[in-house]
Amino acid sequence: MRSTNRQVAVLLAILMGTLACGSSEGVARPVERLSGQAGAPGIGDSDFPLDGNGGYDVSHYALKLGYTPSSRRLDGVATIQATAKQGLSQFNLDLKGFKVGEVSVDGAAAAFSRTGHELTVTPAAPLRQGSAFNVKVAYAGVPQPVVDSSNLGRYGFIPTPDGAFVACEPNGARTWFPGNDHPADKATFDFEITVPKGVTALANGELTGKPQTSGDLTTFKWREAHPMATYLATATVGRFQLREGKTPGGIRALAAVDPKFTRSLDKLYKLSAEITDYWGTVFGRYPFSSTGGVIDDFTAGYALENQTKPLYGGFDPGEDIIAHELAHQWFGNSLSIERWRDLWLNEGFATYAEWLWAEHKGTGTADASFRAFYERPAKDPIWTYPPGRAKPSDLFNESVYNRGAMTLHALRGAIGDETFFKLLKTWTSEHQYGNVTTEQFVTLAERLSGKQLDTLFDTWLFQPGRPAI
Ligand SMILES: [Zn+2]
Repeated sequence: MRSTNRQVAVLLAILMGTLACGSSEGVARPVERLSGQAGAPGIGDSDFPLDGNGGYDVSHYALKLGYTPSSRRLDGVATIQATAKQGLSQFNLDLKGFKVGEVSVDGAAAAFSRTGHELTVTPAAPLRQGSAFNVKVAYAGVPQPVVDSSNLGRYGFIPTPDGAFVACEPNGARTWFPGNDHPADKATFDFEITVPKGVTALANGELTGKPQTSGDLTTFKWREAHPMATYLATATVGRFQLREGKTPGGIRALAAVDPKFTRSLDKLYKLSAEITDYWGTVFGRYPFSSTGGVIDDFTAGYALENQTKPLYGGFDPGEDIIAHELAHQWFGNSLSIERWRDLWLNEGFATYAEWLWAEHKGTGTADASFRAFYERPAKDPIWTYPPGRAKPSDLFNESVYNRGAMTLHALRGAIGDETFFKLLKTWTSEHQYGNVTTEQFVTLAERLSGKQLDTLFDTWLFQPGRPAI
């Protein structure tokens, strides 16, 4: 993500809803081999205790959606394939708003209840540990995006006059589909989105066929065949002009712009293609099957690195922002954080990529960028907010971005260019499509460089104040 006009951060207490207790617990019942416990209502990220859920792991989401911009009504059927990681008598999904019509597990009707954004599902029979199962949820209503958050302001499924702007970091996927809404549980996605004729639905990955029009409605089917965090999923809908093709390096590319940005279409297409190819030489092979970008006319004040299709909210992005969002395809999307406090692994790297892009184009050097930030006064957030532990109430503080990037520059100085760039490629290849932590990065940097680096990382990531150089 990158802000274009940062909102004032407001401390919000995390509101913890009361947890529903299984009503069947405590009732004497015959001994049966199939038993299970309730899955936890959170995936285990202590900074976001109710984000995601415990007890299962999702492998695939199939989302069948109908959206009518004029009424803002979304009709959805989500079919989720998952594996039980424990015996499960019940489990939770995250879903904000909507009326839930029907829930089934492996084809059998399941009981469900709702508390806050937790949808608790009780299958007809408990699920065995290790078993694969699917859960189907039918739901409908007017999506309610997250508003006035200290993180990002407004995000999630945001209705617009001609469709919807869908950008979900950190936890807005629940505003349009039920799921395990935390980056620690990644999955592949199929989208089948039906919208009024003349309107385009843009989701992640590639179209699996030509859009089909029947009467006044057109259906778009998209597939993201690589694992994706829920916050990177999109179903951005509206009137769009498209340009499609391949990058010079041979990667499928798609740029889409709201008609207000017609003049930006070719620039967006060409820059996205050029930058994707260049990052492939610096960060390792591009991890996905297509690249591109979308400019919608909703003035979000930020861009988000939606997988394969970064989304720019109401502005014509410069090279630096495109370079940033496309670097996230490696740092954040292919390699996803296991917990939000490690967000510098996304934002510090994507910000450093901006510096590297300037270096590549000969318009600046990473060292000059580093020195400019280094001169900032002692009361600046980059010195008062250590970036290695992003705060849940202020995840996107600029320190996570800029001091995160400075950390990488300090590391580059300590281990030398050759080892530093080898480290970037080794990092992306060893953890491709997986989840990562700061500790893993430090360990790899020490392994490749043969140097003891804990003091450097501790000083730059975890201690307040300006490190000596
Ligand atoms: Zn970013």
